Amino acid sequence: MESIHELKQEVLEANLALVTNKLVISTWGNVSGYDPESGIFVIKASGVPYSALREEHMVAVELSGKIIDTKYRPSSDTNTHRIIYSHFSEKGIRGIVHTHSQYASIWAQLGRALPCFGTTHADYFDGEIPCTEELTDDEILEGYEKYTGISIINAMRDKDPLRVPAAFVIHHGPFAWGETPEKGVMNSVVLEYICKMAIMMNIVDPNIRPLREAILRKHQDRKYGVNAYYGQISKSNQPIKSDKQDKE
Ligand SMILES: [Zn+2]
Repeated sequence: MESIHELKQEVLEANLALVTNKLVISTWGNVSGYDPESGIFVIKASGVPYSALREEHMVAVELSGKIIDTKYRPSSDTNTHRIIYSHFSEKGIRGIVHTHSQYASIWAQLGRALPCFGTTHADYFDGEIPCTEELTDDEILEGYEKYTGISIINAMRDKDPLRVPAAFVIHHGPFAWGETPEKGVMNSVVLEYICKMAIMMNIVDPNIRPLREAILRKHQDRKYGVNAYYGQISKSNQPIKSDKQDKE
């Protein structure tokens, strides 16, 4: 089991990586990391600028919602993260990232799923990236962040969160996730990149067609399938599935 100190350091570094990857400004955005053995997740404190962010601003919260560290209030989006972990931690999701990165937020504000238009998308996301339905007025009043989380779970109902590690929250912005907070950040970076490409392509040709299914399958299977051959062979003779390698 990871110590709470190690988890806080990991989540701190992932939050700071949002700045270096130009996905956030001001206090926007948040990253959390989950430890399945203790059932605790750590999330950025609310309203703290990234330039001042320290380990003490990483707030530990139980999956039940009970806040363990009370010195700082956790992100206002904590309940959304909590709902996502409640449903996806069994699948191996250990990190969640929310940003208002510009192009992914434009796509979210359009209220549309993002079709897979090319192989950059296909290398990281198995097909369409869904968008949530609108919340009802009652849901917004009763539990805005909780129902936002539920709307993400509903949008993902027929998808594997490991293979489609992101969703758009309508009128708002993207949530992405991964097997670690760092991988969640990488998926957010790629999401921003492919949203920018999609928006540019739609300007040039609004009738552009999605990628052929056979190419999507090929790119997913060579990276994640049983006979995956993308990347280098590790000592255990398994391909090293690092997101840090250059694309081919
Ligand atoms: Zn937001």
